[in-house]
Amino acid sequence: MRLLILGGTGEARSLAARLDEGSARRDLPGIAFTSSLAGRVSRPALPKGPVRIGGFGGIQGLVAYLRDSATDAVVDATHPFAAGISANAAAATSQLETPLLMLRRPGWLAGQQDNWQRVPTITAVTDLLRDQPPSRVLLTTGRRDLAVFAGLPEHHFVIRSVDPPHAGSLPPRRTLILARGPYTVQGETELMIEQQIDVLVTKDSGGQLTVAKLIAARELGVAVIMVDRPPPPTDVQTVETVEDALRWINVQSAGPRG
Ligand code: NAP
Repeated sequence: MRLLILGGTGEARSLAARLDEGSARRDLPGIAFTSSLAGRVSRPALPKGPVRIGGFGGIQGLVAYLRDSATDAVVDATHPFAAGISANAAAATSQLETPLLMLRRPGWLAGQQDNWQRVPTITAVTDLLRDQPPSRVLLTTGRRDLAVFAGLPEHHFVIRSVDPPHAGSLPPRRTLILARGPYTVQGETELMIEQQIDVLVTKDSGGQLTVAKLIAARELGVAVIMVDRPPPPTDVQTVETVEDALRWINVQSAGPRG
């Protein structure tokens, strides 16, 4: 069986590592897999096994890739906010009737001690901040959406991203921190104290790699603005764990193929 893993997440790397291990130990014989990365970051964390990097060229590009590579099944293990590639994967696999599984970690849930406000989009964050007194905001939503904060000169933004922001409009009062997770609670606490953070802005990415900031915010009484996930494509079978994805792959590899 030929499997395509749409990646760019810790789960996608774990899945590739398990398949790689399995084929070496012959637990998962006959599964040839390729991981796909968008190529957004300059030094991506590479999964085990074969990797291809770069966009496919929309739905039809992905259809052509799946056809040319004789791919039998696809696991969409992309980030919950990577809505474009997930929609393309759903459309392309449906055209070809190729089995598709979405591997999506659950979102984060607020506990009783947390002070979170949920908003539907990144733009809605600016509406909330505009009504608040000047504050120091830790922005962990990535370098792509920074322009929406450019119209908030009264707030100071501490921007943390893997790579530097692209040229273009940025919030006028800002500090840039280049860093890549996973992060520790101690590190996040120190950062929030040092930078005198009042508000943390984060996407509801879920998972363990970046949860430390939420624990630090809870302990320090820092308010959190949590951006909700975009809706996933409808009618795509979804699992939350790598184990469940491996079970699905086993079933696919055992089943009949045309
Ligand atoms: P996106 O907006 O959903 O996708 C935009 C385009 O990038 C897609 O149409 C596709 O181009 C290409 N693309 C995205 N993921 C790809 C993949 N795994 N392999 C090949 N091409 C891919 O995606 P995004 O939000 O920019 O995220 C890009 C990648 O970073 C994803 O793989 C995601 O898992 C990872 N990531 C995203 C976030 C986030 O917050 N969005 C956070 C951490 C990691 P074509 O149309 O040309 O095929």
